[in-house]
Amino acid sequence: MSGVKVTAIDVEKTAIVLEDGARISVDLVIGADGVHFNVTCTHPKELSDNKETLDNDDDDAAAIAYNQKASFSTVQSIYSDFDPVARQLLELPDPDGFRIWKLVDMDDIPNWSSTDTALLGDACHPVSPFGFPGTSMAIEDALTLSTLLPVDILVGREVEEQLRIYQEIRKPRVDRVREQARKHARGER
Ligand SMILES: Cc1cc2nc3c(=O)[nH]c(=O)nc-3n(C[C@H](O)[C@H](O)[C@H](O)COP(=O)(O)OP(=O)(O)OC[C@H]3O[C@@H](n4cnc5c(N)ncnc54)[C@H](O)[C@@H]3O)c2cc1C
Repeated sequence: MSGVKVTAIDVEKTAIVLEDGARISVDLVIGADGVHFNVTCTHPKELSDNKETLDNDDDDAAAIAYNQKASFSTVQSIYSDFDPVARQLLELPDPDGFRIWKLVDMDDIPNWSSTDTALLGDACHPVSPFGFPGTSMAIEDALTLSTLLPVDILVGREVEEQLRIYQEIRKPRVDRVREQARKHARGER
């Protein structure tokens, strides 16, 4: 099922609620909903530190400014001290098409999974785009999860253990990539 908005997650009964009110019971919820952390923030227990991360963000505009429209005059003022030739490039695209994208970089949350809920990609470890690692990290997470969770796996403790191994495998790699992205951001190699 695609193109359908999930509006709520019942983590106690492992069910999701769709925009049209339909309720679907599932064995496992994988939260791959990006930097807005919907799955994370609805989880009351093990993943709740995520909510704290958002609440503690110094810049409250984090969620608000994401993908907001920017006027052409705003864009011009941001680049006002750039070389005139570079500024001419700003006139090439549709002036109504500029967007402000807040870059998100934070330490990953402590727990990427609980009994029957797991997170992947930006939902648990957004990294800044210096070196462009975000997409590949999400894909690698998904491949790792699909390898660890074959279709015939038993639900219950076996799944919980596989989810724990998932984070154990992925976290060192994501930590290394995040550190590399931060180095790129500082102009280091
Ligand atoms: C401007 C910009 C440029 C970037 N450039 C690069 C780049 O060049 N290379 C690179 O590697 N990375 C880049 N990134 C980062 C990259 O886009 C992310 O790291 C990557 O998309 C993360 O993948 P994800 O699957 O975790 O989340 P996303 O790609 O954000 O996917 C989340 C999905 O969940 C859906 N969703 C969210 N909430 C709900 C809901 N309630 N119900 C149903 N669906 C929902 C969303 O619609 C979306 O389709 C860029 C990011 C930005 C903002």
